[in-house]
Amino acid sequence: MTRYECAIDLDAIEAIDVHVHIEVDDHGHSSLPADLVEAVSAYFTTDIDRPDLDSIATYYRERRMAAVVFTVDATTQLGHPALSSEEIAAGAARNNDVLIPFGSVDPRGGAAAVGRARRLIEDHGVRGFKFHPTVQGFDPSDETYYPLYAALQDAGVVALFHTGQTGIGAGMRGGRGFRLALSNPMLLDGVAADFPDLQIIMAHPSVPWQDEALAVATHKHNTWIDLSGWSPKYFPDALVRAANSYLKGRVLFGSDFPLLTPDRWIRDVEHTALKPEALPGIMKDNAARLLGLSDPRTSPQGAS
Ligand SMILES: [Zn+2]
Repeated sequence: MTRYECAIDLDAIEAIDVHVHIEVDDHGHSSLPADLVEAVSAYFTTDIDRPDLDSIATYYRERRMAAVVFTVDATTQLGHPALSSEEIAAGAARNNDVLIPFGSVDPRGGAAAVGRARRLIEDHGVRGFKFHPTVQGFDPSDETYYPLYAALQDAGVVALFHTGQTGIGAGMRGGRGFRLALSNPMLLDGVAADFPDLQIIMAHPSVPWQDEALAVATHKHNTWIDLSGWSPKYFPDALVRAANSYLKGRVLFGSDFPLLTPDRWIRDVEHTALKPEALPGIMKDNAARLLGLSDPRTSPQGAS
């Protein structure tokens, strides 16, 4: 399998979407079990189109955008096999002019998960990891998971955590047993303190804990906020104020494709108070710096 090497020409792209889900693989296997797919479609009152990786690459290429792609491995909690992060990395390698692969391992997999994370980085070239504490059913502040964070910090790759409420499990019996509180961004404050060289993305407006996310991001400069999953029309005022001013260097464009498309996000951002001066950083430059796509000397990780 070819190891991913990034070949993105920063001058040729207009934006980097840091939050894109691969939900189906080349064999037609879905990232979520059928009952959850149905419930999510009902919650969003639409059947969501779930394109495969190569179609997603084409979609982004047409728009002159790059995209960070990943799945979520929640094998333990879902009792459903995850999509292969190795295959996602290989697909990103095929489309390395526009795609950047993040891996996912089930944190509840213990030492095996740490070993697999290392192999995904070393052998497959993933540039970060996606976590979803509510769907994976783990408390990210629990030191049980510190060996995993240590492996990511050592390798200089990014950790992206879902934060805030989620549509996954919504309306199902007991929310299918999923716990929203695990996605409180304040649980990441200690992780950022104990792993000061680990770059952490707190994904989404963290409803109903926006103030918590802003407090963490203000205090821990190794944390970032992505703006995915919500139309910009519904961003909390405090988040928009921060993105315009004191956090403008660490706020990132993300869509949460396929649930929300970058087209809709960009259309709706025009109707917000986000300042035109803040947008180049949010849309592209901050992510380029975080992911080491720009001048290595200015990257927080010190290497591309
Ligand atoms: Zn996500």
